[in-house]
Amino acid sequence: MDVLTKDLLVNFLLMILPLLFIQIVYFYSYRNRLQKSEGKFAAIFPAISILLCLSFPFTINEGFLWDLRGVPIVLGTLYGGYRMGIFLTVVTMISRGLLGGDGVVISTITLCLIWVFYLLLMQRFQRSKIPGKIIIATFLVSFLVICNLTLSYLIFDVLMPLDVWITFTIINVIGLVIALILWEIIRANFLILNDLIRAEKLTVVSHLAASISHEVRNPLTVSRGFIQMAIQDRDQTQGEKERYYLDIALKEIDQATDIINDYLTFAKPASDQQDQINMKVELNHSVNVIQPLANMNNVDIHLKDQLPESAYLIADKKQFQQSLINIFKNGIEAMPDGGVLTIDVSQQSKGYILTVADQGHGMSEEEINRLGEPYFSTKEKGTGLGLMVSYSIIRAIGGSVKVSSEKNHGTTFEISLPVYRKDQ
Ligand code: ADP
Ligand code: MG
Repeated sequence: MDVLTKDLLVNFLLMILPLLFIQIVYFYSYRNRLQKSEGKFAAIFPAISILLCLSFPFTINEGFLWDLRGVPIVLGTLYGGYRMGIFLTVVTMISRGLLGGDGVVISTITLCLIWVFYLLLMQRFQRSKIPGKIIIATFLVSFLVICNLTLSYLIFDVLMPLDVWITFTIINVIGLVIALILWEIIRANFLILNDLIRAEKLTVVSHLAASISHEVRNPLTVSRGFIQMAIQDRDQTQGEKERYYLDIALKEIDQATDIINDYLTFAKPASDQQDQINMKVELNHSVNVIQPLANMNNVDIHLKDQLPESAYLIADKKQFQQSLINIFKNGIEAMPDGGVLTIDVSQQSKGYILTVADQGHGMSEEEINRLGEPYFSTKEKGTGLGLMVSYSIIRAIGGSVKVSSEKNHGTTFEISLPVYRKDQ
């Protein structure tokens, strides 16, 4: 192995080293709840990479340093955004300036030129998946390297053999791809860790909720019974005041029971209180419940109700409303800048068809597949329980849900429900 390649490999290891350290720091900051300082850490690591690369370059011609600093500069900027880019560019310019030599001029020119591409490609990079990211970053690093080499030749007549050009460019690109993949893996690990901890907490909470509400519901039912008996006895023994107190106690107990029943939906969607309910009435009620949220988000709800007056369904009233409300709520939340939520319902040969269409941000194929999975949420404050509950309620009454969605255009939920005919 020639000296050049050896030097570059050392450089490569030094460039990667801070990336490995970042894992340790992330774990530390996570354990100590220092998430807010994440941004600062993220800026320090590429800067250290740059300084290390600059400290151990290889030189063929006096005043010119060849190393892999392009990789941390480009990746740091593309991932970190414009502010990070400015910081890294300034760090590089200053430290390269301190080392001196004719190369400073070249380095400064290329660092400025590459900003044209940052401005053009940054957003596309941040939206892309890994292969797209690799292509964009490879292009930028190659640009940086080749621009450096060409300008050195044109301005200072620095002539390097072709094989050095090629080796240098290739090692830069390989370094970049490895660093990018490593970074993606580190990030994915942290996201998984976060999700895992959150999911675990939620499981505990919902188990707790289910078991406590079971335990509490029984004494409440008993108390309610006795209070009712006391009210009935009142005529003989009690005054107006007592009756008033007992009425309040009764109302509060009913309220507590309602809350507990809502909690129980998480744990036990199949209800024993299946009733014959009127679709029209329940649908209208659910729309009324969600209306304030729609108003707050500038969303217009267009309800196209083509149901016959006697559209019946066998279901638990409260749960059925809940399942619709969750779906309406997601539609509204998908349109933070307002829009129209269209709710269409009709009776067809295969049953009732209820479509809920929004004009929101839509979902990718992968997200659609994960719908209804417990704890799957892309929202910062989401629980990922809404659709799980909706789906299990709809399935429990013999219905089904189909989802179609297009990224940035909107989502449509199509719910089919079995018709209940009185003569059945
Ligand atoms: P939460 O609303 O708490 O996130 P849900 O179970 O209601 O949980 O929804 C799960 C995820 O499904 C949401 O975080 C969102 O990413 C996606 N989703 C659901 N409905 C829509 C919709 N109408 N448009 C876009 N994404 C949606
Ligand atoms: Mg939701």
